[in-house]
Amino acid sequence: MFDKRFRKTIREFSMLKAGDRIAIGLSGGKDSCALLQSMVQLKEKLPMELVAITINEGIKGYREKTLKTAKRECEKHGVEHVVLSFKEAAEMDLDEIVKTKKDGVPCSHCGVLRRYLLNKGSREAGANKLATGHNLDDVAQTVFMNIMRNEPARLARYLEPISQSSKFIRRIRPFMRTPEKEIAIYCMVNGIELDNMDCPYAGFAFRGQVRKILNETEEKYPGTKFRILNSFIEMEDALRAKYSVNAKLESCKSCGEPCSDEVCMFCKKVKVLK
Ligand code: SF4
Ligand code: ZN
Repeated sequence: MFDKRFRKTIREFSMLKAGDRIAIGLSGGKDSCALLQSMVQLKEKLPMELVAITINEGIKGYREKTLKTAKRECEKHGVEHVVLSFKEAAEMDLDEIVKTKKDGVPCSHCGVLRRYLLNKGSREAGANKLATGHNLDDVAQTVFMNIMRNEPARLARYLEPISQSSKFIRRIRPFMRTPEKEIAIYCMVNGIELDNMDCPYAGFAFRGQVRKILNETEEKYPGTKFRILNSFIEMEDALRAKYSVNAKLESCKSCGEPCSDEVCMFCKKVKVLK
């Protein structure tokens, strides 16, 4: 059932083809470790190259452990492993950024820096697609959060960027139809040992509140998360059409990465934080 859904989702969204070089965003948590294993198994049927990319945000007492898991899983499957750090890219790690107490909660800094590094890192590793372990729960939460924050434009570009650029690496989410609980079971059944510690900054995240609401609703009304995902997929074309009208594509004046403004979000953030 698990593998069937994984493969069906890949076919439904034409996520993969023979000869792809896929970067896997590997945090070392359950979703990305299960994704790595599923992709390694799929590679036996569909010839492709895999490279795993781990972002070290610099979160003391947490990231070291998941980095170890990521390294172990790559060695187990013989997959090339690239580690990129906030410290190297932004000259500050997340713990130092949080100490500045500037401009926003930890997850908002973390999200901007991680997305930037994953895209750049995948391209520099020669990948043409970036696979992430986002599951059904994550996607339903993201849809809900963007509605609650009145950010439909973000929703429009969630599955792929509005403006096409060879510098943007297409993101794929083969677990977007797989419930989080099933991934946890998959890891147990397949002997993937995990350190189940939560990020110490997770408590600041709006996502935590949304997760709680959705889990409670799912409990009372089973199928809610699937229905949110399906509604989003139904609306996606209309959203993309609306927001692509005035979409601009520029190259960041500071780093050259693609963005919709003169300077990209990463460079803006790093400037504010320094
Ligand atoms: Fe980053 Fe927030 Fe996730 Fe921690 S919980 S890794 S700070 S996005
Ligand atoms: Zn930039």
